[in-house]
Formats: sequence, structure tokens, C-alpha cells
Amino acid sequence: MRVVHHLAELRAERTRLKDPLGLVPTMGFLHDGHASLVRRARLECASVAVSIFVNPTQFGPQEDLATYPRDLARDLALLEAEGADLVWVPEVDDVYPPGDQTWVSVEQVTRRLEGERRPGHFRGVTTVVAKLLHAFEPQRAYFGQKDAQQAVVIRRMVRDLLWPVEVVVCPTVREPDGLALSSRNSYLSAGERMAAGVLYRSLRAAAEAFASGTYQAEGLRQILRATLAGEPLTRPHYVSVADPETLQELQGEVSRALLSMAVSIGKTTLIDNMLVGGEGS
Ligand code: AMP
Repeated sequence: MRVVHHLAELRAERTRLKDPLGLVPTMGFLHDGHASLVRRARLECASVAVSIFVNPTQFGPQEDLATYPRDLARDLALLEAEGADLVWVPEVDDVYPPGDQTWVSVEQVTRRLEGERRPGHFRGVTTVVAKLLHAFEPQRAYFGQKDAQQAVVIRRMVRDLLWPVEVVVCPTVREPDGLALSSRNSYLSAGERMAAGVLYRSLRAAAEAFASGTYQAEGLRQILRATLAGEPLTRPHYVSVADPETLQELQGEVSRALLSMAVSIGKTTLIDNMLVGGEGS
């Protein structure tokens, strides 16, 4: 496995990799959710590349950029064990050349949910992913369903910019109690960690109600809210029952929906989601 830091080294190493190349973009502090993307890429591609970059432009001024957890040595050991071929660990200047003034932004689908809660977040995400796609020129790029809106936004960007890359979205990897693996789970105290299981329980409760005939969007939102309210440590930012492609909030009877939420527990905000109808979660 080759580990490179500067763009010129990355481009040189890229020419040695066989196509199709699968790219897994990450912010590091890797867990089994990230590993599942690398494994899927390993199965489907001749070569696998990973980026580790805590992208400053996707963090708001009040967010956790400075404290975001990092452990490069452990990340590289995990990637070596998973059989990655190439890892890019750039510095900020490698990704954002001094004096840069170019952004990539996607419109409607970035406005709601996480976009509303975190202004500017998706402009940072789409800009960095655009740069990563240019730097690696992969045939496939792997993302997690855990960040459902991010996956929708990136699919839209790739389609709109006529990019010859296939976006592959992989299932959410969860702890035994259903909590979605996330680098930010490391911020939770023991009590908060116990409470965090309620996100998955609320999604399950709504998905089970849907499976047994509760098709009204408002009824599903009500179940999400009521289940979260049973856990006093939680402060929901939003609960949503939305169209899985447009992310428009749904009203009335629904046949498919993306159930999603952002919930603060103490100082940590967690997001989770589940698809109902169609292909499931
Ligand atoms: P991050 O390092 O948080 O930017 O995540 C890098 C990639 O891993 C993104 O595509 C995430 O959606 C994906 N990911 C994060 N957590 C999980 C998880 N629990 N299961 C599956 N994919 C995940």
C-alpha cells in the first residue's frame, strides 16, 4: 500500500494503478463503516484508493473542525489490512491552493435537512469531492447510506457535470444496539452512548409502522418524534419523512420515503436515516 501526501506524488502513483479504480473518500478516524466501503470497492474494482482529509470547508464556524478525532497510524493499519492500494493524506494547501476561489455547489437538494442545519456544509462537500474525483480519476466512488443526503447530492453533482464515474452507495454499518457507526460517536459519554440507541429505535418504530400500514407521512413523523421524546437526553434538530431523490418533505400517503433525523445528545449531534418502501434500508 502506497501512502502519499502531495498531489504530484498522487498523480504519479495513480498512473501505476489498474482500472477500474474505486475511490473511498473519508475524513479518517476509520471504523467498520469505512472498512465496509473499502471491502466493497475491493470486490468490485481492480484497484482501491482512499483519501483521508478532514475537509475544513465543510465545517461551520461553530463546529468541531479543531477537535475532530484523528489517528493516522491506526487508519493506515486498517487500510493495509483491508487491502487498499493507495492512500492520499493531503495537507490543506494540496487541496485548496493558496488564493483559490472556485467552488462547486448543487442547488435544491442541498437546501433542506443537513443543508438547512449546516449552511455551507454541502458546498464544502461537493467542492472537495469534485477535487478528489479530478485528482484520482476513479471509475467508481463509494459512499455510505449513513450520510443519505450527501449521497443524493453527490449523485446529482456527478450526473449534472457529466462525470464518467459510478457512485456506489453502501448500507449503513451499525453497532449491536443499532447506533450507526460514526467517528463522532467517540465524543459520547457512557450515558450519552446508551441514549444514542434511540435514533435507530425511532427509525425502526416508524419503519415497522409503515410495514404494517401507517402510510401517512405525518403519522410516521409523529412516531419518530414520540420515540425520541422517550429519551430525555436527546434534542432533535429535525425529523423528516422525505422523497428519497428530491428530499422534498412528503405530505399525505407515501409509498417510499427517506426517514431521517439530526439529534443532539449533550454536545454531539448525530444523524441517521432509513429508507422505507422501495429497496428498504
Ligand atoms: P466520513 O469519514 O465521516 O466523511 O465518512 C466517509 C464515508 O464513510 C462517507 O461516505 C460516509 O457516508 C461513510 N460512512 C460513515 N459511517 C458509515 C457507516 N456507519 N456505515 C456505512 N458507511 C459509513
